[in-house]
Amino acid sequence: MFYISTRGQTRPHTFTEAVEAGLAPDGGLFLPEKLPSIKDKLTGWGTLSYAELAAEFLSIFGPEIPVEEWRTMTTEAYSRFDSPDVAPLKKITDKTYVLELWHGPTLAFKDFALQLLGLLYKRQVKLSGKKLAVLGATSGDTGSAAIHGCMGQDGIQIFILYPNGRVAPLQERQMACTGAENVFAIPVPGTFDDAQRVVKDCFGDQEFVRSVNLSAVNSINIARVLAQCVYYIWAWLRLPAEARATVEFVVPTGNFGNVLAGWLCQQMGMPCGSFRVATNQNDILHRFFSSGDYKQGEVHPSHAPSMDIQAASNFERYLYFMLNKDQGRVRDVMQRMKAGERVTFPKMTSSIRSSRMDNETIPKAIAQMWQDWQYVMDPHTACAFTDMAKDRVSVVLSTASPAKFPEVVQEATGSEPVHPTLEALKSKPLQTHPLPATEAAVKEFVRAHV
Ligand SMILES: *Cc1c(COP(=O)(O)O)cnc(C)c1O
Repeated sequence: MFYISTRGQTRPHTFTEAVEAGLAPDGGLFLPEKLPSIKDKLTGWGTLSYAELAAEFLSIFGPEIPVEEWRTMTTEAYSRFDSPDVAPLKKITDKTYVLELWHGPTLAFKDFALQLLGLLYKRQVKLSGKKLAVLGATSGDTGSAAIHGCMGQDGIQIFILYPNGRVAPLQERQMACTGAENVFAIPVPGTFDDAQRVVKDCFGDQEFVRSVNLSAVNSINIARVLAQCVYYIWAWLRLPAEARATVEFVVPTGNFGNVLAGWLCQQMGMPCGSFRVATNQNDILHRFFSSGDYKQGEVHPSHAPSMDIQAASNFERYLYFMLNKDQGRVRDVMQRMKAGERVTFPKMTSSIRSSRMDNETIPKAIAQMWQDWQYVMDPHTACAFTDMAKDRVSVVLSTASPAKFPEVVQEATGSEPVHPTLEALKSKPLQTHPLPATEAAVKEFVRAHV
């Protein structure tokens, strides 16, 4: 199994090499050269535990790591979750299920990939004897999950950029109150997209990447996408048999990493129905899926900050398939997008549709859910509850614990959601390293701290 770049100007990489590099050297994103079929394996996977399923699935994609070693890693990563099911599938009505993806250490779905990625980094440092500098940008949850996957690990320094004042206070505390010496929480002025751009620019400098042994931890790492595939399969296997073929997975979306994982499962032969990309008012992807137009707008901060994104970094992987794997066309389209051009695609048939929720509607959706079903959900998950399919079962991916966003949830339900991990954070000192949003400043900081 080899990994190629969506832009076609990178030699094939092994899984381990692709994970270590993060972004492909030509600026593209890694994808398996050929998607394997998992169709015949699904039935046999029905009785596995979450960690076993993850090991079986991931060993297809990282065959150079023995399956026993995968099992050791997935067991360690998912034993840190506070539910025996790891990803519990809750039935709300006959037509609606919620897949709770927030039982990990930082209470958002990013833990699924980043607990594992931390262990993959650890393995790499051990094998190569080389120190690793991990760099990423976050709109809130990726950073805290990445930090919790890497903190305290020998040979790893982790640097996380986030838009100052635009992540939820508890998200910031999760990043900046760890007390770990290898963790650097870096607020920068601007939006998530500004932070992300600086990170991308740093990775564009190959000499810098080599000199500090830099690895990317934002949602572009292929290991993240693959680790996220597992819970789609897990949920699919737990649905009533008659619901599986048509089920619609509804995914609160920002960078397009989560829904891409589900869509890839379908491409690999998991027979499900469709996907719905649920956006908040930052609706670039909704505009794309409803009209074919891809044009970046401005970011408007919302109740669902982890979806406040106008440049969905994983979208390039989908584009690669949409453009019939023509890497020259991917390069061309990405260049035009980078220049801020409006790019229009012909209407295509696809199993992905989309929806959008206004900011004012988010607390109303939380309140309605509470009233009707006594189920408390967070503002990201709430964005999914519009335009529900009438003729099929929906599985809504619940991406964060309501306790991470206490203000809006309290406003909607009348009581404040709490979680012991978050309560403990409130009394710890905040340790941040503010920097200007420039490539030069970040490179200098990283060099000084590796
Ligand atoms: C990251 C995140 C999202 C968006 O996921 P993408 O993979 O970026 O589309 C949605 N909700 C929460 C709570 C998140 O942390």
